[in-house]
Amino acid sequence: MNDVTNVEVFSPESLVSAVQVLAEAGAEARILAGGTDLMVALEKGLWRPQGFVLDISRLSAELRYIKVEEDEVRIGALTSFADIVTSPLLAVEAASLVAAAREIGAQQIQNRATIGGNIMNASPAGDSMPALLALDARVVLTSNEGPRTLPLFSFFPAYRETVAKPSELLTEVRITRRKRVTQDYFRKVAPRSAQAISKVILAARAWDMDASSEGSRLGSVRIGVGSVAPTPLRLFETERVLEGKVLTPSLMAAASRTLETEISPIDDIRSTAEYRRLVCCRLLEEFLANLLLES
Ligand SMILES: Cc1cc2nc3c(=O)[nH]c(=O)nc-3n(C[C@H](O)[C@H](O)[C@H](O)COP(=O)(O)OP(=O)(O)OC[C@H]3O[C@@H](n4cnc5c(N)ncnc54)[C@H](O)[C@@H]3O)c2cc1C
Repeated sequence: MNDVTNVEVFSPESLVSAVQVLAEAGAEARILAGGTDLMVALEKGLWRPQGFVLDISRLSAELRYIKVEEDEVRIGALTSFADIVTSPLLAVEAASLVAAAREIGAQQIQNRATIGGNIMNASPAGDSMPALLALDARVVLTSNEGPRTLPLFSFFPAYRETVAKPSELLTEVRITRRKRVTQDYFRKVAPRSAQAISKVILAARAWDMDASSEGSRLGSVRIGVGSVAPTPLRLFETERVLEGKVLTPSLMAAASRTLETEISPIDDIRSTAEYRRLVCCRLLEEFLANLLLES
C-alpha cells in the first residue's frame, strides 16, 4: 500500500466549489467518486497520490439523479450502478444500460461504483460504455467556465485516455430517447457472470423498423463494442451497412465482415484476438436474429 499520510483530501459540498478547486489545482488534483477503481490502483501501487484528492461523493444532491425529459434521459455522474439497475425509468428507456449495470462487479460494487467513474476510468473493457454508445450518449463536462457537451464516441482518443481537461468534472450523461425501439441489446462475454472482466461486449439498438413486401426493413441502428479495440468503440461502418436495408442472411454476413474490419482485438491473459473476433461477429448475428423474431 502507498503512503497516503501526506495527501490532502478536500470534500466540497457544492459543484461550484468543486470546479473552483479544480481550476486552481488542475492536474495536481485527483478526483475520487466511489473509489472502486482508484482504491484498487492505490493498493496495486498504480496510483501514487500526490498533492490532494478531490472527493466528490458529497455532491450527491447535485450529481446523483435519473431524470427524463422530452428528448433525452439525464443521468448524474454520481449515479451508482445500483441506482441504474433499480430504475423503472431506465428499464423502459435504456434496457441495455440496465443490463450492463447488472453485470458490473457484484452488488457491493454496484452500490458504490458510479457511472461517471466508469466512463472516466476509460477502460476498453468497461461495461457501461458499449451500452451508452448504442444509446447515442453524450457527456457533460463542467469546469468553472461552465459546461460543454460532447458525444461519447469522440470521448476516448486513445487507450485509457479521455479528452476531459484536468479542470473539468464529468457531471452528466445524456441518452437520446427514441420512439419505436425494436431492441436494446447488451451481451457481455466473460468467464463468470459476476466479478469478471469482459472478453467481448456488444450492445446495440434498433429503431424505426418496418415490414416491407421483401421482409423486415431496418431503420436506424447503433452498435457499441468493448474489449475488442484500444478504446470503447462505436461501429459506424457496420451501422451503415445495415441501416435502411431488408434483413436477409446475406446482409447479416456483410455486416459481420464489416464488423471484422472495424475492430482490432488483441491476445492477452483473458482471451485471444481470434476468439474475440469470432464472438463479436456471433453477438452481432444474435442481435440481428433477435430483430427478425421481434419485428
Ligand atoms: C471487485 C471489482 C469488480 C469490478 N467489476 C467491474 C465490472 O464488472 N465492469 C466494469 O466496467 N467495471 C468494474 N469494476 C471497476 C469499477 O467498479 C468501475 O469502473 C466503476 O464504475 C468506477 O466508478 P467509481 O465511482 O468507483 O470511480 P473512482 O474509482 O472513484 O474513479 C475512477 C476514475 O475516474 C475518475 N473520476 C471519477 N468520477 C469522476 C468525475 N465525475 N469526473 C471526472 N473524473 C472522475 C477518477 O479520478 C478515477 O480516475 C470493478 C471494480 C472492482 C474493485
